[in-house]
Amino acid sequence: MEKKKKMSLATKIFIALVLGIIVGMLLISHASIATTYIKPFGTIFLNLIKWVVTPLVFFSIMSGVISMRDIRKVGSIGIKTIVYYLCTTAFAITIGLFLANVFKGFFPVLQTTDLVYEASEPVNFMDTLVGIFPSNFFKPFVEANMLQIIVASLIIGFALLLVEQQREIEFTMVDTLNDVFMKSMEMIVALSPIGVFCLICPVVAENGPAVLGSLAKVLLVAYIAYILHAVIVYSLSVKIGAGLSPIAFFKGMMPAIMFAFSSASSVGTLPINLECVENLGADKDIASFVLPLGATINMDGTAIYQGVCAVFIASCFGISLTFPQMLTIVLTATLASIGTAGVPGAGMVMLAMVLASVGLPVEGIALVAGVDRIFDMGRTTVNITGDASCTIIVSAIERRKQAK
Ligand code: ASP
Repeated sequence: MEKKKKMSLATKIFIALVLGIIVGMLLISHASIATTYIKPFGTIFLNLIKWVVTPLVFFSIMSGVISMRDIRKVGSIGIKTIVYYLCTTAFAITIGLFLANVFKGFFPVLQTTDLVYEASEPVNFMDTLVGIFPSNFFKPFVEANMLQIIVASLIIGFALLLVEQQREIEFTMVDTLNDVFMKSMEMIVALSPIGVFCLICPVVAENGPAVLGSLAKVLLVAYIAYILHAVIVYSLSVKIGAGLSPIAFFKGMMPAIMFAFSSASSVGTLPINLECVENLGADKDIASFVLPLGATINMDGTAIYQGVCAVFIASCFGISLTFPQMLTIVLTATLASIGTAGVPGAGMVMLAMVLASVGLPVEGIALVAGVDRIFDMGRTTVNITGDASCTIIVSAIERRKQAK
């Protein structure tokens, strides 16, 4: 009998992506069919991801902390991780702003009268800071507040390491729960070819002609910046930091990249990303701490998007951004990207904070809202690739330290 070779998930996702685009194009003149009957299945898939994300991040960070067995080690890895994340994000937004300024002349100047966009709430730095710390044990889970979940899992993880009589049974319990939620996520992720098809098809059906029209140039600039950032920053950093060839890195990351591109969720990509970085030689303990942290706080693609959109929106309103305003954008976009949850569409909500910081009209978001999904697919891909590069570098540094 002929032996049947099992198709990999990545191949299935790729086929679903292509099919979704083709069917979406066929449905351009009947977009309502795609949005009424196909999109809901995509929504179910995303809902399942959002459901599992909170316990997954909670237990995986905690399990990462306790597997290191030593608070100092957690601290030293945590600091390296955060420094890398902040530097690459600041660099990302600089690339975004630079390219957007270079290509500003090509941007369309869209009508800005009658724009309506309701920003959720005014956000400022101090409120964001206070908001990181939970005041109620359950609320972070109920509201899926990822930063608060990280704080809670760190505190409990440290406490588990510090209690007098450290018992293996507690450690095993956390690891088991982590495995259980990872398995749940894997089960959900196994549905991703269907999810991806149902998500991409309505996007193409709805946006096809509109995108080709007015916003194509802005999208193009954002994508050039995404690619430049990934190719320059991540190639250099994995090469210098871990001695890994950039080609091997991007090749090994392909399944996660394709999944992120189609799902537009960093946190949803976590299980696949974990597998990819481990195959690329990263340490499992380090990955289970650095990756979930990155999926929540490290968003280079989101920062690039915010830079490009800020310049575009300003130019539509006939405003030219000054140098100090750009510096403010670098700072707020870095902070905003930390506060963004790794789920689809979150970056657009945080764009309000960036625009408000330099006095740009928040209604401008309405100009780019229609095609947010297309920006989002690219920015999520950059986001998760950044998390993976950090994991690989930190693993290599720790390995060198141990060898000494
Ligand atoms: N969708 C992005 C992510 O999950 C966040 C964003 O909207 O920028 O990484």
